[in-house]
Amino acid sequence: MKNLLILGGGTAGTMVANRMTRLLDSNEWHITIVDQHETHYYQPGFLFIPFGMYSRNDVIKPRRDFIPPNVEMIMSPIELIEPEHNRVRLSKDHRLLNYDFLVIATGAQVHPEQTPGLKEHEWEKSIFEFYTADGAVSLAKHLRTWQGGRMVVNVVENPIKCPVAPLEFLMLADWYFHEQGLRERVEIVYATPLPGAFTKPIAAFHLGNILERKGIKVIPEFLIEHVDPDAKKIVAFDEQEIDYDLLVSVPLNMGSEVIARSGLGDDLNFVPVDKHTLVSPKHPNIFVLVDAAALPTSKAGSVAHFAVENFSENFMRYIDGLEMLPSFDGHANCFIESGFGKGLLIDFNYDVEPLPGRYPLPGIGPFSLLQESEMNHWGKMMFRWMYWNLLLKGEELPLPARMTMAGKWQS
Ligand SMILES: Cc1cc2nc3c(=O)[nH]c(=O)nc-3n(C[C@H](O)[C@H](O)[C@H](O)COP(=O)(O)OP(=O)(O)OC[C@H]3O[C@@H](n4cnc5c(N)ncnc54)[C@H](O)[C@@H]3O)c2cc1C
Repeated sequence: MKNLLILGGGTAGTMVANRMTRLLDSNEWHITIVDQHETHYYQPGFLFIPFGMYSRNDVIKPRRDFIPPNVEMIMSPIELIEPEHNRVRLSKDHRLLNYDFLVIATGAQVHPEQTPGLKEHEWEKSIFEFYTADGAVSLAKHLRTWQGGRMVVNVVENPIKCPVAPLEFLMLADWYFHEQGLRERVEIVYATPLPGAFTKPIAAFHLGNILERKGIKVIPEFLIEHVDPDAKKIVAFDEQEIDYDLLVSVPLNMGSEVIARSGLGDDLNFVPVDKHTLVSPKHPNIFVLVDAAALPTSKAGSVAHFAVENFSENFMRYIDGLEMLPSFDGHANCFIESGFGKGLLIDFNYDVEPLPGRYPLPGIGPFSLLQESEMNHWGKMMFRWMYWNLLLKGEELPLPARMTMAGKWQS
């Protein structure tokens, strides 16, 4: 028997388990997946919790429900990856798991303790985050009775999971405060380390215009050094200061600590990989998927879907002794909820930035790229159903894994 070991039973790891159980002969392969928690979180849903649109129950399901019966599921923290011995050490019972091929899909986690002043005595009093279910629920409680003031949303450093989520949060907050009759009493400020609203210039222009129209102020190139929780201000390395009444932070995102312990990551514990095959350059039997990898594309569930499609085809070639194809192009697409029942959609890859147009059918859509529409909002709301019912189960979707220029408008 050959062993395929998957570390992390989140979005990517679950998709890999489902796909590979269909593709690999069960008489020859044993597939194992390890995760530390019983609960699978639908992370895109965290965005809606602060505004009372979703509750915690809307974003959780038992992890085991999504793992095929012929895959061995082990619940344990992962202690150490030992590539020179082709084995992984688990914390539970110090168990050792040998592998022939390893998939690392341990994701990214938020680390508020890395920014001085952030997670101290004002944490969850005047300082919140919405990148975890607990954080989003606490913020929802706070917003229910908040009487207004200056709300500052700050991204500590990039990369972050779903780089459009802070923008969606700002636009939903604008809508929410309107609904509460509070908008006149709330100033909304976005302090970002980027030079504009988003990374890529065309999308930054479109999204920046929408934020301006909604009266949301963007403070670019703000690199936070510390928070002064008593004076209620954030302070940048260049000594620029921003006062707040309510601070919503997107804390530093880092790869799992097991990556650091195993000496496999960069400064932020993300694992370097070949960006077209997702193979570790140091260890040819280790693949690294999505958030855990140091890849120049978004850390997103949609990327997980496209990456897993590429991975599974390449893996089958690899074990058949064929050369792998450099087929992963960094394809990402993300709905961007913009409030008042509307949304946008962006579709891009390593080389092509988000462009206006229609998607997925050229000229028809039904989704519009980089433009607000009600259809895009419904696409975003449908995503949760698709996530639980299609994406996690590794089902084929009628969307090409590689990005296409058809339907995109170039000026
Ligand atoms: C607020 C928010 C909004 C988002 N919105 C969107 C969106 O609209 N669209 C979109 O496509 N994506 C969105 N995302 C991003 C998306 O959720 C992630 O990119 C995706 O889940 C990444 O999948 P992954 O498998 O790489 O990591 P995860 O799904 O995070 O899985 C990693 C798993 O590894 C496990 N693990 C880590 N370390 C260990 C260890 N030492 N021992 C055992 N287990 C371990 C964890 O428990 C976890 O289950 C959003 C994310 C957030 C936070």
